[in-house]
Amino acid sequence: MPDRQDIAVQRNGFNAQESAFSQGIRVDSAVVFDFVSYWSVVDRAILIQADLSGHVRNEVIAHAVAHIEMAESRDLAAALDGERWRGRIEMEVHDVVAHRLIPLADLRDALEVGDNLTDVSALLGVTEFLLGWRLQHLANDEFAVIPVHLLNRLGWLPGIPAEYPYRCLWPTSSSGEILRQLAPGRHHR
Ligand SMILES: [Zn+2]
Repeated sequence: MPDRQDIAVQRNGFNAQESAFSQGIRVDSAVVFDFVSYWSVVDRAILIQADLSGHVRNEVIAHAVAHIEMAESRDLAAALDGERWRGRIEMEVHDVVAHRLIPLADLRDALEVGDNLTDVSALLGVTEFLLGWRLQHLANDEFAVIPVHLLNRLGWLPGIPAEYPYRCLWPTSSSGEILRQLAPGRHHR
């Protein structure tokens, strides 16, 4: 069993930047203090904090991409209008991102090697938050693939919070303008 120091954070197999690029979503970064990520469905643009570490950056971009992919969603429109709880949309986004970044086979492989949440998340190249989310929402048929002793030895239970790494800023009526000011000259309607 490898020592914790031997487990480096891996590059996650899902390249969120490429995913954004292939969908015509532009990703900019800026040094700002009051948010980690900002997304605009109308502008198809994402602005993220400039100094995020590699795997957090990947995850934050994947999160914002999932929001923008909901452009046609009535639920998102209702949430933007204040008629639906935004937390519900955040949960949907976490589900999408957790499945994209943590395929079941990868999760099983990582659980064979790591025996705690920190090591397993490092092996997967995701935050402990996202791993915790994936574990909490494993489907019944997914449990059939993962030996239960690998889950039990983690010693982790839902409800024990991992640090929440995203401060996701929702767009407002003026946010397209905010985005253009933060990354001047780079967004054109
Ligand atoms: Zn969000």
